[in-house]
Amino acid sequence: MSIKLKTPEEIEILREGGQRHAEILNHLAKMVKPGVSTLILEEEALRLIREGGDKAAFLGYKPQGAKRVYPAALCVSINDEIVHGIPNEAARIIDDGDIVSIDLGLLHRGLITDAAITVPAGTVDDESQKLIEVTRTALKRGIEAATVGNTVGDIGYAIYEAVRSSGFTLAEDLTGHGVGYSVHEEPFVPNFGKKGEGEKLVPGMVIAIEPMVNIGKPGIRLARDGYTIKTRDGSRSAHFEHTVAINEKGNIILTS
Ligand code: MG
Repeated sequence: MSIKLKTPEEIEILREGGQRHAEILNHLAKMVKPGVSTLILEEEALRLIREGGDKAAFLGYKPQGAKRVYPAALCVSINDEIVHGIPNEAARIIDDGDIVSIDLGLLHRGLITDAAITVPAGTVDDESQKLIEVTRTALKRGIEAATVGNTVGDIGYAIYEAVRSSGFTLAEDLTGHGVGYSVHEEPFVPNFGKKGEGEKLVPGMVIAIEPMVNIGKPGIRLARDGYTIKTRDGSRSAHFEHTVAINEKGNIILTS
């Protein structure tokens, strides 16, 4: 394991970038409406990122095991798509009742933040609304557990406990991660786990916490584009993510 801790100065830069990041995501969230193409979201994200003098961290990034670089700034994942939907290759028109996850990586002054939200388009059914609320709460609980002395297992345990009683499930094999110098760093930050297990949290750690919650079963499958991950049973999935810096007092949510 080699976890790269960030200095207080670097965390300041991440905080600055994280605020821009949150503003862009909020702006995009307001654009999510029936009839809007996911391509428009992508173009608007690129415009806002470049206007701020920053870069899209996902664009051109090649995750471990991927056959090609990621071709967009955003991941836009609708309904049964869990994560990594590509908005510019297969642009989709958002429908009334859809739930739309928007995931963005922002490179600001050399450092990366990662955050995602799920937004209802028009009027969504009660179960989808509940899914969004449960996933948002799971992230909140995970962040509350992200304190010095705890471990990544404590974060996963808190997330799992928040989801368990809803009857929904956490998407299998998908986890949060360290972030900052690159899009994915050590450690893995699981969405399940045992109290006290795994890497200990120490000041200077910067991690992306990201529960991905399915209405149905936890099974996932990779679409033919090599990126989009969907639920195997076709049920809907939601995703919320924040980048968080561990400090002496607890943590700072960098992307809010
Ligand atoms: Mg992430």
